[in-house]
Amino acid sequence: MKFTDFDLSDELQKTIQESGYEEPTPIQAQTIPHVLAGKDIIGQAQTGTGKTAAFGLPILEHVDVDNPNVQAVIVSPTRELAIQTQEELYRLGKAKHVKVQVVYGGADIRRQIKNLKNHPQIIVGTPGRLLDHIRRRTIKLENVQTLVLDEADDMLDMGFLPDIEAIISETPDSRQTLLFSATMPPAMKKIGVKFMTDPEQITV
Ligand code: AMP
Repeated sequence: MKFTDFDLSDELQKTIQESGYEEPTPIQAQTIPHVLAGKDIIGQAQTGTGKTAAFGLPILEHVDVDNPNVQAVIVSPTRELAIQTQEELYRLGKAKHVKVQVVYGGADIRRQIKNLKNHPQIIVGTPGRLLDHIRRRTIKLENVQTLVLDEADDMLDMGFLPDIEAIISETPDSRQTLLFSATMPPAMKKIGVKFMTDPEQITV
């Protein structure tokens, strides 16, 4: 399989080429076509497998840069993962001029609020701070098309399930939901049933 087999814009294909990616990783090969087709995904994959580009490239493909609303939200368990994901999505979406902002706890919220006024189309954040912004109405998720729960098992272990449910309830029922987790305990399957529509199960 080659990246050129995917229905991605020339802009993204050029960025992929410039990144030195020669071929899709297994998670990318299995995930990208389904996400492009709008399907929900439960993906079992560790960090370092190319998971970020697996969900990021189709999300970037779907983003309308002329639309100032938040169109995708990625929920991450830690500040470190959130920052890393924001950086990767910004880099992959730069040629298309996609705005990607990260929000996490323990950092000055006023500065984040100021940056949010630039109308990012994609937001990456940790659960508590995302919810804080939602309650302040500084982040609005009513136009979100794709929601990603990244490293979902870690988020469950950290007790973030109520926050995650509150975040999901702010997004439209018509959204696409993508869940990635290194492990698949029974609790994860329950989330799949509760928040996803006929999800495609992917294991690498
Ligand atoms: P991730 O698992 O998303 O954290 O990605 C791990 C690293 O692999 C990142 O530095 C990516 O830029 C890189 N990467 C992602 N996809 C590919 C690919 N198809 N070929 C080579 N490197 C990749």
